[in-house]
Amino acid sequence: MNCPKCSGEMELVSYDGIKVDRCTSCGGLWFQPEELRALRDDIWMADYIIDSGDKNAGRKANANKEIDCPQCGKLMQHEADAEQKHITYESCPDGHGTFLDAGEFTDLVRKTFWDRFKRAR
Ligand SMILES: [Zn+2]
Ligand SMILES: [Zn+2]
Repeated sequence: MNCPKCSGEMELVSYDGIKVDRCTSCGGLWFQPEELRALRDDIWMADYIIDSGDKNAGRKANANKEIDCPQCGKLMQHEADAEQKHITYESCPDGHGTFLDAGEFTDLVRKTFWDRFKRAR
């Protein structure tokens, strides 16, 4: 599979049985919907291991929003995260997956982590 943003090579990275495609060029991440859910629920160290791309490259890649689903070729829809509106990502309208630029996954799970920490106290 090639990166829908920069057409770089995607490599498979796995964390705790969950497999995610990561671009070797821009560091973007392609998640299947169930993988993204699983990782948001169990995030210990997942951000360090999976989201290791260059955040500056991620910020540049984030400007490119007209991308097609790498699985079906449909134009992906932009979404802002419900809890963290500054994080925008692209999702396939048919639910094949979600593309996060380098650094965005870390941003997503950090919030979840600190929320949980605060709630636990
Ligand atoms: Zn890429
Ligand atoms: Zn699709």
